[in-house]
Formats: sequence, C-alpha cells, structure tokens
Amino acid sequence: MYYYSTSNRNLRVSLREAVVQGLAPDNGLFMPEHIPALPKSFVDSLSKLSFQEIGFEVANNIIGDDIPSTELKRIVDHTIQFDAPLVAIEENIFSLELFHGPTLAFKDFGARFLSGLLGYFAQQQSREITILVATSGDTGSAVANGFFNVPGTKVIVLYPSGKVSEIQEKQFTTLGGNITALEIDGTFDDCQRLVKEAFMDEGLKKKLFLTSANSINIARLLPQSFYYFRAYAQLIPVTKPVVFSVPSGNFGNLTAGLFAKRMGLPIHKFIAATNSNDIVPQYLETKVFSPKPSIATISNAMDVGNPSNFARMLDIYDGNHQILSQDITGCRFSDQQTKEVMFDVFKNKHYLLDPHGAIGYLGLREYFKGNTNQTGIFLETAHPAKFKDVVQDAIGDVIAIPEKLQGFLTKKKTSIAMKNSFRALKEFLLG
Ligand SMILES: *Cc1c(COP(=O)(O)O)cnc(C)c1O
Repeated sequence: MYYYSTSNRNLRVSLREAVVQGLAPDNGLFMPEHIPALPKSFVDSLSKLSFQEIGFEVANNIIGDDIPSTELKRIVDHTIQFDAPLVAIEENIFSLELFHGPTLAFKDFGARFLSGLLGYFAQQQSREITILVATSGDTGSAVANGFFNVPGTKVIVLYPSGKVSEIQEKQFTTLGGNITALEIDGTFDDCQRLVKEAFMDEGLKKKLFLTSANSINIARLLPQSFYYFRAYAQLIPVTKPVVFSVPSGNFGNLTAGLFAKRMGLPIHKFIAATNSNDIVPQYLETKVFSPKPSIATISNAMDVGNPSNFARMLDIYDGNHQILSQDITGCRFSDQQTKEVMFDVFKNKHYLLDPHGAIGYLGLREYFKGNTNQTGIFLETAHPAKFKDVVQDAIGDVIAIPEKLQGFLTKKKTSIAMKNSFRALKEFLLG
C-alpha cells in the first residue's frame, strides 16, 4: 500500500517513509491510497474475537502488505495490553473508556503502536531516530512513556509552559533517559508550529534523523480505529443505529472513526464535539474552515485552533461538504456546561466524567434530545484523576488518585525552559 500526501495525491511513499517522515515534505498529511472494507463476516463475528485479534485484523487490512505478519502481530499485542471497556451510563448512552493504559489516556494506543512500528524500522538502519512531539498534555505523556528506553530512539517533548496540568507535566518531565522536555513560553499552537518548522528545515534534516509522534503521524491514527470495532463488539446484538460522539481537538480520534466506518463498521453518525475551540463545528455549519488562535478551556487537551487532521477528514470525503456533513454533526460546549454535566452525571448516574469525556457526553445529550431510537457511545478519552482540580471543583467532592498516577507525582520534574522561537529550538537540537 502506498501513502499519498493530502496536499498532492501524486506524492506517494511507502509505509516506512510515511511513518518516519510523519509530515509529507509538501506539508500535507499522509493517507493510505485506499481504505479496504473488511468482510461483513468479520463485523458479525466481532463479539467472538479478543481485542488483540480485532486489532490485528484491522491493522492487517491496511498495512498487512508492508510488514511481516509476525512483526505486526507482535506490535498489535504490545499496543493492546489493556481493554477499552464499554460502560452503560443510561439506557442508550455508553462510555467507551479509553484510559486504562499506562498514562491513563487514549493516546497510549497510538503511542504504543507508533513506538512498536518505529522500533521495527529503527532495526533496519544505523542512525538514532529523534522524535519531536508537541503536546497540550496527554500526547507528551503517552509518547514519552511509549518510547522510554526504546533503543535507537530519543524523544523531545515541546509543551506550553503553565498550560498543562501538574499530573500531565510529571508524566513526561520525570522519566529522564532518552526523554527530554522543552518548556516553551507560548501556547500549544506555538509548540505545534515549532515542530512543523523543524520538519521543513533542511539544515536540521541533514544533521538529524527527525520524526514526529504527533497525531499527524499515520501510525498514531491507525490503532485508534481498533477501539471503534471493540466498542461495537461489546454492543452486539446491535438493535439500533450507533452514534459515536468524539470530544475533539486535533481530530485524530474522529478521523480514526471515519477509517473504521470506511472499513465497514456500521456507524450511523459521528458527533464532532468541541469546547469553545469550535473550528470544525463552524465548518460543518458554514462550509468555511477558519483556523483561529486557540482559547484556553478546562478541557485543555482540546484547545486547538487549527485542527491538524481536518485535512484528512476532507480528503476522505474528497472535499465534499455535503456528504461529510451527513456523516458528521458538530456541536460545542462552554466550560460552564462542562462543569454542570460533570456534577449532574456524578450525582444522578454515579459516573465520574473527565472534562473531555463530559463534552462527548454532552454531544450525545444534545443530539438525542431525549430520543432513544439510537445508541450513543462517547469516547471517554482520559481518566478523571488526570484533571483532578477541575473535576473536584465541578463535583464538589474529593476523588481518589490511581496508583499509576501517584507514582509519577512523587518524582522530580526536569525540563528545559525555552523561548517561543524556532531559532532557539534549532540551536538546541544542533547543540
Ligand atoms: C488529545 C486529547 C483529546 C483530543 O483528541 P484529538 O484526537 O486530538 O481530537 C481529547 N481528550 C483528551 C483527554 C486528549 O488527551
């Protein structure tokens, strides 16, 4: 299978190049040249398969020709070391809990798959791979932990100073070894731009073997389609149309859902649920895509003003707004609404939402408006304890911190402060 750039479909590369380059040289994002449908018998048999078996079939369908089957199986098994349980919140609303991995957020899936794949490609070459990653919180922790001590790799995490929670920060500033954290005096968008600039810089590319671990990397995206199938498997026998509500920032999760639908998973509708950074909901309503500087909210992993995977969403629909907006409905919610629903669901349904999952849940509530003819699944993208202060404030109660997180909190933070300047980054990387 070849991978083309969303900016130029004639620019085609192998899986290895797509994964190692991360971003296409023309600034586009890599896409598989086609997304084959899986047989209906596979979808019908989902409830009989383990999560790892599902993951293997889905991965094999897209990248089976590019990597030996035994390697792919090993990478998928390494990725899926924890489940994605579907938990009923009310009659027709379910939470797909994606936070049972080592850093308690869905990004563990993508990061572990990517580290497996890059580790495999690194064996075939002599140079060390430098992984540059911009984070608004969860990406940094997932990637740092996914690559920690992986031979032949070095990870540089760029994060906006003061704009990630303490727990998130501790997860990528306390590891040491092959992991370095750069604390940037700017926003997440600035960090993302610095990483993009680094990839466009000829001088850097000559000296370093650079690659990206952001959700622009196709290897991050592919494993995220596994859990849409896993969710569906837990719903069988399915009696009503299934709607997925995806709390979104860079729209990697939602794009992975579109891949799953293309592969034959019967998904009736997607809800693109955002906080006040509602660039995509606005596009769905007005046909105008208008990136803006990001606005800080309590669901900070979704504070994205220029969603990078939008190019892939458009590509899947050949830029056809009409068909795209039949499959995807947008909505946005304020911090106030987010806090209120966290309180309400905790009090009345005895379920603890994190601020991101809360927006997914709100999306379903608004879409259904009390109607129960459909089944809704929202992606619960992080464990509530990762956003302890916000959650405790919303519910007016104290929550327990899981052991996995406590382990990070007791360690000492080490980061390098840096101006929001590409020159400073370049000097550091070459230094
Ligand atoms: C990254 C993240 C999101 C946004 O996911 P995208 O794929 O960028 O849309 C939502 N919730 C949490 C907790 C995240 O870490």
